[in-house]
Amino acid sequence: MSSDCIFCKIIIGDIPAKLLYEDGDVLAFNDINPKAPTHILVIPRKHIKGPAALTEADQALMGKVIKVATDLAEKAGLDHGFRLVMNNGEQAGQTVFHLHLHVLGGRAMAWPPG
Ligand code: AMP
Ligand code: ZN
Repeated sequence: MSSDCIFCKIIIGDIPAKLLYEDGDVLAFNDINPKAPTHILVIPRKHIKGPAALTEADQALMGKVIKVATDLAEKAGLDHGFRLVMNNGEQAGQTVFHLHLHVLGGRAMAWPPG
């Protein structure tokens, strides 16, 4: 838990979020400022700054984050495709420094990303 972290505050219930999924390791909720018709965030309960801060001990946890993301994409009916995005660092567009996996879908997407 990091006291100045928005996502840690969601985890402890200090900031409200309608949870789409929750277990002992992982939480998922809708992005407050969606960039696609479906825009879900999947986060570990553990405060990890971002993907570059992962350690070997986090491998199973990350596997679970991805599995929860793909299960929620299926549940959301994203049969035509979806995108999983994880930003690392300011230049990549990371604004919340608690690791999160974006699940984006429901519209056609350009490649490469901007
Ligand atoms: P990133 O830019 O990759 O760090 O993504 C952070 C995401 O968190 C952005 O898409 C924000 O819209 C989203 N976000 C920030 N605050 C909240 C919140 N309280 N509840 C849900 N999503 C949030
Ligand atoms: Zn945090």
